[in-house]
Amino acid sequence: MAANKKLLFLPGDGIGPEVMRQVRRVIDWMDRKRKITFDVSEGLVGGAAIEAHGVPLSDATLAEALAVDAVMLGAVGGPKWDNPSDYTKRPEAGLLTLRKELGLFANLRPAVVFDALVDASTLKADVIRGLDILIVRELTGGVYFGEPRGITDIGNGERRGVNTQVYTTSEIRRVARVAFELARKRGNKLCSMEKANVMESGLLWRQEVTKLHGEEFQDVELSHMYADNGAMQLLKNPKQFDVIVTDNLFGDILSDEAAMMTGSLGMLPSASLGAPDANGHRKALYEPVHGSAPDIAGRDLANPCATLLSFAMCLRYSFNLDEDAKLIERSIQNVLGGGMRTADIMAPGMARCSTTVMGDSILRELDKLAS
Ligand code: NAD
Repeated sequence: MAANKKLLFLPGDGIGPEVMRQVRRVIDWMDRKRKITFDVSEGLVGGAAIEAHGVPLSDATLAEALAVDAVMLGAVGGPKWDNPSDYTKRPEAGLLTLRKELGLFANLRPAVVFDALVDASTLKADVIRGLDILIVRELTGGVYFGEPRGITDIGNGERRGVNTQVYTTSEIRRVARVAFELARKRGNKLCSMEKANVMESGLLWRQEVTKLHGEEFQDVELSHMYADNGAMQLLKNPKQFDVIVTDNLFGDILSDEAAMMTGSLGMLPSASLGAPDANGHRKALYEPVHGSAPDIAGRDLANPCATLLSFAMCLRYSFNLDEDAKLIERSIQNVLGGGMRTADIMAPGMARCSTTVMGDSILRELDKLAS
């Protein structure tokens, strides 16, 4: 049978190739055991691409990323490429170009606490046990991109730094639509966060989200919260939330706050989505939240779970394979429940294992769950 699901693998640098290897193994498993076939091509990004092509993302790789159904990325960066004279020769520039060219305006960051890792959080177990929330952050607008911007000399030894927070109706509506649609597939609750009390862009955000809700999503329970209160509520009672939608700046901060409640960088997946095409298919990039971890690279020590969970998001959001996404999530949960731990999430009494052995255990668990 011809494969019609096209994936581009960009393992990148450091631990990127090691953790992506475990995704390959799950893809082979799906082919063998679930009769679900992916057409996988592989390219270079970041430092690896600089070494091979002199740039962090070649035109050919970008063209391929634009042509596939989804891109899976490992991580980019490392000390070797930390201080280039030319900013466009930084490994991160490859990732930023991908986000820009694919038009990825919605960044999805789940914060899920696995039962076996409740004690890894700095918060009390009661507060975070069973936590499963999703933050949708606007990724291509707002104060990080608004004009005017810059630092100017205003005389008398004074300088002025300016950034502009700016959002248009369509920018707000498209990210809010993604969030409403996701809420419908989850707990059917959406909380929109801004600072409508002190910012016009926040007021417009609230008005547009409310309007879209009335027009298309009345079945979803919508609430609004000022982002500063949101930051407090996330720590006080995070389980009150299902999906949160917010702008680029607040989303940057709130998604890191929510992520850290789960206690481990090696467990955090992410997805970035673009606008739907005529068939309703969105451009998409999936990647773990962590970086290339040069301190442990090449030693079979990295935790592959964040990348495998990113692949589960890919199955769910790009290919509508919810059942298979759940299989991966459940097998990770069970393997952790059985006491397996890579070094980053090691705890007393647990069994310390390598990247490869964690992959072996997850595949064995997949076999069990799918039989
Ligand atoms: P990092 O996320 O790479 O590592 C931070 C710490 O967490 C390190 O001690 C590392 O060993 C550990 N860690 C991270 N992922 C892990 C995993 N899966 N398993 C076990 N331990 C893990 O962040 P950093 O050290 O600040 O950055 C290293 C490089 O990665 C830099 O070049 C940075 O620019 C780059 N970076 C890339 C991305 C990305 O590709 N999206 C994101 C962040 C940082």
